[in-house]
Amino acid sequence: MTSLEDLPIRDDLRGKSPYGAPQKHVRIELNVNENTHPIPEPVARDIIESLARAILTINRYPDREFSQLRDGLADYLGHGLTRDNIWAANGSNEILQQIMQAFGGPGRSILGFPPTYSMHSIIASGTGTAWVSAERDADFEISPCTAVAAIREHDPDIVIFCSPNNPTGTPLSLETIEAAYDATDKIVIVDEAYAEFAPAGAPSALTLLPGRPRLIVSRTMSKAFAFAGARLGYLAADPAIADALRLVRLPYHLSSLTQAAAVAALQHSAEMLAMVDDIARERDRIVDRLTELGYHPWPTWSNFVLFGGVENPSEVFETLLEQGIIIRDLGIPGHLRVSAGTHAETTAFLEAMAALS
Ligand SMILES: *Cc1c(COP(=O)(O)O)cnc(C)c1O
Repeated sequence: MTSLEDLPIRDDLRGKSPYGAPQKHVRIELNVNENTHPIPEPVARDIIESLARAILTINRYPDREFSQLRDGLADYLGHGLTRDNIWAANGSNEILQQIMQAFGGPGRSILGFPPTYSMHSIIASGTGTAWVSAERDADFEISPCTAVAAIREHDPDIVIFCSPNNPTGTPLSLETIEAAYDATDKIVIVDEAYAEFAPAGAPSALTLLPGRPRLIVSRTMSKAFAFAGARLGYLAADPAIADALRLVRLPYHLSSLTQAAAVAALQHSAEMLAMVDDIARERDRIVDRLTELGYHPWPTWSNFVLFGGVENPSEVFETLLEQGIIIRDLGIPGHLRVSAGTHAETTAFLEAMAALS
């Protein structure tokens, strides 16, 4: 039997672990921050019609420039953005991979601030980009000074922020992003996968794009749009950024079916996003109730809650799993993370937690 160790794999991949969120199908799945609300039926029907039309020309390659989709995404984002500012791929993970292929790679580095989204460093290793990490301030925050000091120390080719941050939920101020941008002449990425869950009126890094051609804001339809299975991530940036990514993307990387489904879903963005307020209310209920139970949930602007004060995280994780409830143990001492679910799912999780204490 051959094992991975026996293969002539790249030296820099030896001993690495793949992305490993357990994919267990249980009664209540609150472990990977999916939107647990299914998409509304009338929208689903429209998407199916759009797919049915696309399948009739599936003998042809898809629109390599996915122009209609970029128009839909630009409309959705607003902020005066047009098709030329938008690029898309199969999930924002692929967006980040293309950015690292174009701007990172062997001999180059990317700076991030753990604890943060584990895929950032995994994509770095896949693209041969050195991952450099810097410390956050207290309470998982990153002040402008802290960001600038880390950039001065490491001189990275790419700086990546996650706002709000996964797995902590922590928002990031625009001042920090501006200061980081001014401290480097390289690429700055803001991963805004959870932007739609932020409080109304909270400013997005999209507002910083004018006059900042090295700033990239990445977004996804996986979370707020309840579209995780469709795989559609995108970015907004200066049009020159898309030109750079055209050099590394595979031709026709976005299938006709993906494009058709996403275009149809974007035409219903209001209905698709109708659950966001609901989810934010469930998230707040988790924060309140866990606090009452004596845990320490961190402030969160996303659809999940990281909470401390857990004496034995792996034991709590297993006890919940035995009851058909899966949450996430990220290996942060004393902490667990839970995604906000439907009202019933959230109630089941909170009741299980109450029974523990
Ligand atoms: C879930 C998540 C993504 C989304 O990845 P997709 O590939 O678009 O599904 C991106 N960034 C962060 C921080 C996430 O938590």
